[in-house]
Amino acid sequence: MGLPFRLVLYATTPALATNAAEAAWSRISELNGILSDYEPESELSRLSRTSGSGTWVPLGHDLSRVLIAANTLSRDSNGAFDVTVGPEVALWKRARRQRELPSKTAINEARRLSGWTLVELRQNGGSHEALLVKSGMRLDLGAIAKGYALDEAALVLRQQGIQRFLLSGGGDMVMGDPPPGQIGWRIEAGVFDTPEAPTRRFLHLAKTALATSGDSFQRAEIGGIRYSHIVDPRKGIGMTDHSLVTVICPSAMLADALSTAVSVLGPTDGPDFAAHHGAEVWIIRKPASTVEETQSAGFPGEPTPFPNQRR
Ligand code: ADP
Ligand code: MG
Repeated sequence: MGLPFRLVLYATTPALATNAAEAAWSRISELNGILSDYEPESELSRLSRTSGSGTWVPLGHDLSRVLIAANTLSRDSNGAFDVTVGPEVALWKRARRQRELPSKTAINEARRLSGWTLVELRQNGGSHEALLVKSGMRLDLGAIAKGYALDEAALVLRQQGIQRFLLSGGGDMVMGDPPPGQIGWRIEAGVFDTPEAPTRRFLHLAKTALATSGDSFQRAEIGGIRYSHIVDPRKGIGMTDHSLVTVICPSAMLADALSTAVSVLGPTDGPDFAAHHGAEVWIIRKPASTVEETQSAGFPGEPTPFPNQRR
């Protein structure tokens, strides 16, 4: 998936710790081989290559679970969350390398090959099948697969008898019980790279998951404008509102996907969307010259009282 994972756990013996960690790593690496779009032979990449052929492709258990969840989130978010953004993300990657915006024609072509309704899913007996409608489509699970891998690896740890753990992948994380004597894992959140940023918070979290999405680390700067790796599917180009979205909910897959969806939906529609999925959210944005902060009632901590802040 092109990102580092990190695991901290408590066990009664070193052997139990090592075995559990190895089992978790091997599950993550198995999922990488299925869900990654960086691996040309992953099940996902093979599925993308069938696009436009009119063939229904049988899906393995993991890919079908992720695609079904993605489909529901796309429908619920009116397409703000969309795993068919592959061609648009590819354009963004090229733009970042060449420091030049794609042409209108290239953006329109990428938009033609994107759209969540172009992935059709159906049940066939006990399993599922997918059909990718247009030739040249490219699925990108960058906003959901790492969360799924975290949930699955946490399950493996629990099956190995490990209850106290913190597992993170590319900034998203899932926590089990806290370290001995602690009320939770101490997590720094709200690290937003502008001078007027709200105060960072330390959250103490256990038995839940947290995900962040933003353009602080992944961005292309072209002509003084910052384009995020999060694409607004309606425009076909990276978001430019400079934001950091943090989501907390029990499922890491959901937290991962919601953080991206809320980044696209913004502070007006984002919080209701997160609440509908049982998640707490904290949105920090700087779309123009002032920083805006919005958070759901159950998100831990208080917003920073900024003199110049629009609420
Ligand atoms: P990060 O990878 O930094 O944790 P996200 O979870 O927000 O951030 O995932 C961003 C990735 O998701 C992008 O790099 C891209 O692969 C994919 N993506 C971009 N825009 C969308 C979107 N609107 N819906 C679904 N996935 C997206
Ligand atoms: Mg995400």
